[in-house]
Amino acid sequence: MKRISAIALSLAALQLGAQSNYWQNHVEYKMDIDMNVEENTFNGEQWLTFTNNSPDTITEVYYHLYFNAFQPGSMMDTRSRNISDPDGRVKDRIFHLESDEVGFHEILSLEQDGQTVNYDIQQTVMKVELQRPIIPGDASVFHMTFHSQVPVQIRRSGRDNKEDVEYSMSQWYPKMAMYDEDGWHPDPYVGREFYAEFGNFLVNIKIDKDYVVGGTGVLTNPEAVGHGYGPELTGRVSDKITYTFAADNVHDFAWAADPDFIHDIVELENGMPVHFFYQEETANVENWEKLQEAVPAYFSFMAEHFGAYDYPQFSVIQAGDGGMEYPMCTFVVGGGDEWEGFLGLFVHEATHNWYYGMLGTNETNYPWMDEGFTTFAEDEFMGMFTDNPNVHQSAYNVYAQLDASGLREPMSTPGDHFNHNFAYSISSYYMGSMFLNQMRSVVGEEAFWNGMMRYYNVWKFKHPKPEDFLRIMERESGLVLDWYLSYWKDQTKTIDYAVDSVLPMGEGATLIRLANNGEMPMPVDVVIELEGGTEIMYTIPLVMMHGHKDEGLAASPWPWTHPTYELEVSYNMRDIRAIRLNPNRQVADLNPKNDTWESEDSE
Ligand SMILES: [Zn+2]
Repeated sequence: MKRISAIALSLAALQLGAQSNYWQNHVEYKMDIDMNVEENTFNGEQWLTFTNNSPDTITEVYYHLYFNAFQPGSMMDTRSRNISDPDGRVKDRIFHLESDEVGFHEILSLEQDGQTVNYDIQQTVMKVELQRPIIPGDASVFHMTFHSQVPVQIRRSGRDNKEDVEYSMSQWYPKMAMYDEDGWHPDPYVGREFYAEFGNFLVNIKIDKDYVVGGTGVLTNPEAVGHGYGPELTGRVSDKITYTFAADNVHDFAWAADPDFIHDIVELENGMPVHFFYQEETANVENWEKLQEAVPAYFSFMAEHFGAYDYPQFSVIQAGDGGMEYPMCTFVVGGGDEWEGFLGLFVHEATHNWYYGMLGTNETNYPWMDEGFTTFAEDEFMGMFTDNPNVHQSAYNVYAQLDASGLREPMSTPGDHFNHNFAYSISSYYMGSMFLNQMRSVVGEEAFWNGMMRYYNVWKFKHPKPEDFLRIMERESGLVLDWYLSYWKDQTKTIDYAVDSVLPMGEGATLIRLANNGEMPMPVDVVIELEGGTEIMYTIPLVMMHGHKDEGLAASPWPWTHPTYELEVSYNMRDIRAIRLNPNRQVADLNPKNDTWESEDSE
């Protein structure tokens, strides 16, 4: 790490500027929900206080009506029936839903500050013309009544999932869309994913007394429900009970309900409860018990490397169609034999409470920021837990497959707009993870890990963008990194550095000529292995980094315009056994064959 003071100063100024101009709005939801479990419908009443902290006067607002996606002919249905590699869970299933199986939200009334407002619904998005513009610093209360039908579970949300869990209630209520410095984000629900404002939720769920409910937030009335929260209800219990959940600093609220849920609670060392909801019949109970033993190690690993989990509770709920992240909880499938797969699924979804939950990135536009960062942290934990030092390697392998397939699109493509789900998945999960693992190699271990912690501290409960993350790493390393974000995120160029030739230069000197055969420039780490076994690492930064990481011997910088580079080292050529580029394989060099040179008499 070589700090050049002028650059460090200007970066610091930029950083301060970004923070002082930053704003975000605020939402306050109160909802009363009355479930009808015979008809799989519910009536809802919602009071939403929206505070405009933007510098703009707001004249319209948007709501998401996610359940409307589960109707034949919807955008989600049509997209799934036209893409060449549809999600196996969706395919044409929406198209064949009967009228009592579809989902819908019927808006019965909507008022802004007591005055009825007009609205227009286009499938999953409702646009509301305001009666009164909301000026900067002002707030409005939106009062809505609605009637909704829970769809058969097709994707994420719905009733009667394949493991017979009755209600998986995610994306289940009319939810205000996101307004940030780029304006409204009323993204239609096609498949993926979500972006919303932070705020507080108070949700009353009235449901038949046999149902066990778990979800976002903390239950505030355990004595009124029993079911593992409080002592079992005795005496005459009315047909319905009301669960009251409160959650602060979250941008969504999800819940699940089933009469057959077992409800276990494990307390971490710091006193935080982790709740588990699963069915004896369909879950792999042994895995759920093992998971309860593993969660303390997970939460302390995350706190040490990525920042502390900053909510008062977490719940793991068997309610998924795979696994999906929600604030303060996750829905996962609960069956299956494989323990490591189940643990990995939990770790992935729980880790989203950092990369999505607390660091509220736009999942629709930057799926790699939540999926990729989550995959990276998941792999780090699983590598530690299973003692596997090469845990990131599979990402590099599938990235190479994607590149060879010809289906690759820029990682900056919004989640719903990739031509192939195959390309979306590898791009978001694996290239997003590699973005971090390569960053490690560019800025060095110390700056990288300090940067991950600083990212958490600076952006917790906010909405960072790719550039905000980059600023953090620039500040932490003292390096200029804009080129890296541009190449990896916006372009599809690939990396291929090579050892071109090695020449003796007389006594005590050898010339190593390197070649850049690829289109994406990267700093290059070169390890010289001497005959005695000693290894010396050189790091060759790029000119445009204006510095180098604090690892190895810094060589003079390589201008990206130059196809070759000469590294002169002060060893006799006969004393060099091998030369290796990219020694820890953190750089996604697609042609590793030309990365190594070995002396002819080496064995
Ligand atoms: Zn994920």
